[in-house]
Amino acid sequence: MADSFDDRDGWLWLDGRMVPWREATLHVLTHSLHYGGAVFEGERAYGGVIFKSVQHSERLFRSAEYMDYEIPFNLRDIEAAKADVIRRNGFSDAYVRVIAWRGSQTMGVSGLPNNTHVAVTAYPWGTYYGEARKIGATLDIARWKRPSPETLPCLAKTSGAYMICTLAKNEADRKGYTDALMFDYRGYVAESTGANIFFVRDGEIHTPTPDCFLNGITRNTVLDILARDNVTVHERHIEPSELESFQQCFLTGTAAEVTPVRSIGDTNFEIGTLVRGISDEYDRIVRGNR
Ligand code: PMP
Repeated sequence: MADSFDDRDGWLWLDGRMVPWREATLHVLTHSLHYGGAVFEGERAYGGVIFKSVQHSERLFRSAEYMDYEIPFNLRDIEAAKADVIRRNGFSDAYVRVIAWRGSQTMGVSGLPNNTHVAVTAYPWGTYYGEARKIGATLDIARWKRPSPETLPCLAKTSGAYMICTLAKNEADRKGYTDALMFDYRGYVAESTGANIFFVRDGEIHTPTPDCFLNGITRNTVLDILARDNVTVHERHIEPSELESFQQCFLTGTAAEVTPVRSIGDTNFEIGTLVRGISDEYDRIVRGNR
């Protein structure tokens, strides 16, 4: 298949050097393939510049720490690699995927003896949710829950945590929804399978406390916009029974950007001026315009 990720032209950065895209393969006996524990970042470059690049790299290093390994490069190496990959491939708007993982030295459950590898890749990627970005996403309610912080290092962006997301997203896709809303292990509203969630009630914002899922970089950009615009924000635990009381809803994430939600299960939302305004402002900010 021409579009397959393993069969493309271009260059990527692997363990400190630029390699032709198709040569970046790995062995089937790779620790992180078997046991999870890769850590990664999803970033977007707009006009050749990665939005909040350093924050993404910092989170990558923190994620590796949560997963109990060290990335054998420093933050400046990763920053330079990301810029090089974008330049070398001639990209302007692109999605950037950085990943670190445990290698092939041993196949025991212990990860300690393994070397850590790092790759920096980039590729063109349009709107994550397609036309839903304009007309609003429809969300299924997932039967999978965000686990407790005692079950998983939930602030790490680690591959193992995404297996639940994939199951929930597969089910939503099959049923014809845009994505799925996940509750957490206590039953509170958490996030979608790849983005944080916000609600609007009577001109005020309500958003779940990020105590068992990623406190997204986009989420924080939106919180900054809201603070600047003097919009009241309630960061708190949200019960599923409250969904009906909200008038607007939106998702935030590097891939999702700011996407309005038009329904969750049987509950409908309007795509109002507040959501539209934040979405437009986010689009301006990522391109360096305020
Ligand atoms: N939650 C999950 C599960 C995600 O995959 C993402 C995307 N990284 C987010 C939230 C939003 O994070 P960010 O805004 O930093 O991209």
